[in-house]
Amino acid sequence: MLLAAAVLLAVVALAAAGSAALRLRRADRELVAARAQLARFDVEPAMPAEEQVGLEALRRDNRVKFDEDAQVEDRALMSQLLADFRDVGAAEEAIFWRWNAEKDALAPSAWSTATPRPAHFDVVQWGPLVQWSAETGVVQTVGVDEVVHVGAACVRRRGQLIGVLSLTHREGLGLERPALREWLPRLATQLASYVELIDYRRRYQRHMRQSKALLDAVQRLQGDQTGVGLGRALCETALDVSSARGAVLVRWDSESETGELQYATEGTGLRELTALEGTSVVAEACRTGLLHVLEDARGAASGQALYGAARVIREPGSVAIIPIAKDGRTLGALVLEAEEEGTFTQEETRPLTVLGAVVAGSLELAWSYAEVDKRARTDPLTGLWNRLHFGEQLQRMLAEADRHELPVSLVLVDIDHFKRVNDSFGHEAGDAVLKQVAIILQEGIRNVDICVRYGGEEIAMLMGHTESARAVEVAERLRARIAATPMRHAGAEIAVTASFGVASYPETVKVRDQLFPSADKALYIAKHDGRNCVRAKPATKGRTAG
Ligand code: GH3
Ligand code: MG
Ligand code: MG
Repeated sequence: MLLAAAVLLAVVALAAAGSAALRLRRADRELVAARAQLARFDVEPAMPAEEQVGLEALRRDNRVKFDEDAQVEDRALMSQLLADFRDVGAAEEAIFWRWNAEKDALAPSAWSTATPRPAHFDVVQWGPLVQWSAETGVVQTVGVDEVVHVGAACVRRRGQLIGVLSLTHREGLGLERPALREWLPRLATQLASYVELIDYRRRYQRHMRQSKALLDAVQRLQGDQTGVGLGRALCETALDVSSARGAVLVRWDSESETGELQYATEGTGLRELTALEGTSVVAEACRTGLLHVLEDARGAASGQALYGAARVIREPGSVAIIPIAKDGRTLGALVLEAEEEGTFTQEETRPLTVLGAVVAGSLELAWSYAEVDKRARTDPLTGLWNRLHFGEQLQRMLAEADRHELPVSLVLVDIDHFKRVNDSFGHEAGDAVLKQVAIILQEGIRNVDICVRYGGEEIAMLMGHTESARAVEVAERLRARIAATPMRHAGAEIAVTASFGVASYPETVKVRDQLFPSADKALYIAKHDGRNCVRAKPATKGRTAG
């Protein structure tokens, strides 16, 4: 506004001057002063302090809206300037025709009249002259004898044509041809500086908005430093700042070229965080480490092609895969899914590339910590969880059971006469049997259940939201499967059975601490009853029955 006022002052002042000559001399001086103002404004672009910008400023719909608002504002400023030009030339209308290099054409971009379109310009008669001025690069005038109806001059910025300035009057302009020839190029120069300033201001404001929004996002990401927490924060931030309906964080190991889904927002319809299919589109993008935008994803990423995982909702219309790298190594990727085709552009993904870079270090740390932690909780022989994890999960599930008044069941499994397996087939065969039994048990329960190698050949299964009868049913099914499956080792077939003990809190065990001892007691009874059977702690205290 500072600039607008300065230019306004300058030009209104000279419009008031009496004779054309006097006007020209004064205008010259004022123009210099106005330019000095403009230069000052140029180095101190102001961001309106009251403008509140949040994360949502990065969203495409909001960016478009900001840009549209800015355009309206810019056009109003341009109109003011052109109204001043109109008055200087005693014209009816002043128009800035902007050159569109792509379309190879001029189009009115701003005009002095407060109407949706230029109101006084005769396109048929004068249009070619404006075009001609752009092509020849010299001031063009059209009129009859001394009466000039149109004057047009090229507007250049750093030698490049950016448009044409036209002054028109159906009755004749107030300036004569020589004055016009001198004046129009000056006004055009002034206009060029103004256009540059407005463009610059708009870019600056956009940049400030995005920086501020990004800063907010980064602060939010600092909040949680665990792998899951970071994954969630990154994905949710991605939804806030883009037009995506769903976001997935993928972890990538560039050495083994394998990946896995770490976090997925609900909008993806992905039920499980599975391993990334090696031939999937996302795996391929991770391998190249380059930004991948699928404007039309329905073909390329349909079915399970994107991750190799099934989803329960409609395929996304477009997808952006933004690699996350550290020290030149791809750590993973943020995948954005949008409903519509053609949603994602480079500009849309840029803030997220920045976010990805910001969190890359934290993610790497969190992920390597999670790996160490997982290793510390995993039994190396069977790959099942170990006792450390069991203890924590048992407490967590019991607390959850209390909170939600839901049952939790514990099933203890012990392989029958396992000593004999070792004695007859050797320790290695025993290991192999143990592994195969572990697989049968692990595959026979839900993903939310927890299967733990509790001791030597003892395995525990923790089942949330599961009543005693249901747990017994599962145990019986698994018992039958083990008994029916010949275990294999070094060409030998080894038949084994296992015994099961079941207890449920709070259904059959009222005291939390008694859950494990009760299941152990039931297991003891199963052994006593001849093995290869399931026994559960009954609801009545003190007795166990089949
Ligand atoms: P039951 O449970 O039916 O009463 O008889 P069992 O022979 O299975 O019982 P016991 O607890 O007496 O023996 C368990 C055996 O399991 C002893 C040990 O040598 C073996 N064992 C424990 N851990 C491992 C292991 O990691 N590998 C192998 N090969 N054997 C193991
Ligand atoms: Mg045993
Ligand atoms: Mg045992």
